[in-house]
Amino acid sequence: MVVGAGIAGMTIAVELARRGARVQVIADPSRSPTTPVAAGMLAPAAETDFGEDLLVRLEQDARTAWEALAATLERNGDTDVLFEVRGSLVAAQTPGDLDHLRRMVDLQRRFGMTASLLGARDLVDLEPALSSHLAGGALLPDDAQVDNRRALAAYDTWAAKLGIERIEAAVRAVHPDAVELADTSRLQADTVVVAAGSWLRDLVEVALQPVRGVTIRGTLPVGLAPRHCLRGELRGRRVYIVPRASHEIVIGATSDEAPLTDRDPRARDLLDLLDDARTLAPAMGELAVTDVSVGFRPATPDNLPIVGRGDDGVWVHGGHYRHGILLAPFTATLLADAIVGDGVDPRLAALSPTRLRSRA
Ligand SMILES: Cc1cc2nc3c(=O)[nH]c(=O)nc-3n(C[C@H](O)[C@H](O)[C@H](O)COP(=O)(O)OP(=O)(O)OC[C@H]3O[C@@H](n4cnc5c(N)ncnc54)[C@H](O)[C@@H]3O)c2cc1C
Repeated sequence: MVVGAGIAGMTIAVELARRGARVQVIADPSRSPTTPVAAGMLAPAAETDFGEDLLVRLEQDARTAWEALAATLERNGDTDVLFEVRGSLVAAQTPGDLDHLRRMVDLQRRFGMTASLLGARDLVDLEPALSSHLAGGALLPDDAQVDNRRALAAYDTWAAKLGIERIEAAVRAVHPDAVELADTSRLQADTVVVAAGSWLRDLVEVALQPVRGVTIRGTLPVGLAPRHCLRGELRGRRVYIVPRASHEIVIGATSDEAPLTDRDPRARDLLDLLDDARTLAPAMGELAVTDVSVGFRPATPDNLPIVGRGDDGVWVHGGHYRHGILLAPFTATLLADAIVGDGVDPRLAALSPTRLRSRA
């Protein structure tokens, strides 16, 4: 029994069913998943940071795994998931920002990634959509992306083909061999995996902090879209622009702590995002906006996901924070192997729910 039907729930459900298990997925329609809100970046290079070696290595393995996964997912999910390797282009607004990018490029290379620093002219030659007022940037050519909405739909189709049953209900408590529903009924199961996104801490004892984020989707007139995934940090705020082969553009993302009920985007969220996107790439002012969405990144105190069995015998797949689309398909394979007894990857020790016992 898997609780949750976002990327974490559907990936572990499918991996368990592929290993021969009979699987049910139970999800509460009133808790709308964060997975469709994400931008779908599969970008270990752009996300590399100091002091996060285990996370970076996991992301590199997850990015490699996506290469083959995209084809398998498309075949079984009857959907083109728009996996693309466009590379990230990280822009620096000031000479100080460029110095920071130089240090990041050194770090990325230490992880064996391809990364190069570009001056202002080379940057605009490579990506004419960028503003000519930038100080320079970094090219990270191996970063990729997927259309996360299509990917989730493909997982739904694949799950149905594997005979995974879908139940719509709210879970109020979990046990190693059963879940209790809000209507007080009880469903028995051999194994329970909780993949409830930012609602995880309602069901299991882990420290988890939801981090609210807004993305904007739209389309641009032909010829104005950037070729790369563009990123930058402007006025202390992160902004990115993800162009897709479908001609959709995703702009993201805000970041603040707010209650899970706070689902309406603020005017200042939209003003900041669109202002920053236009500073990076002036043509963004022409975006025909089609969608604005709000989600909650399930963040852990050490930024690592929660993958494994808790002291209470309940399994957990979650806490993927800002990298769930990238990481969850890969961590689901590690978790499924551990659940069916096909071997325990040594990295799981560091991802165990027991490291985060107290409630946030
Ligand atoms: C603005 C933004 C941009 C992002 N961009 C990226 C990106 O570019 N790349 C990337 O890799 N990641 C990105 N992320 C992160 C990614 O979206 C998340 O890590 C991921 O979607 C979390 O997936 P999940 O399945 O754990 O949770 P969710 O998708 O939130 O799913 C949770 C599921 O649990 C169910 N549920 C919860 N409680 C209960 C209950 N009590 N009973 C029954 N069901 C329950 C819900 O109904 C839902 O089905 C972004 C996130 C945000 C907010």
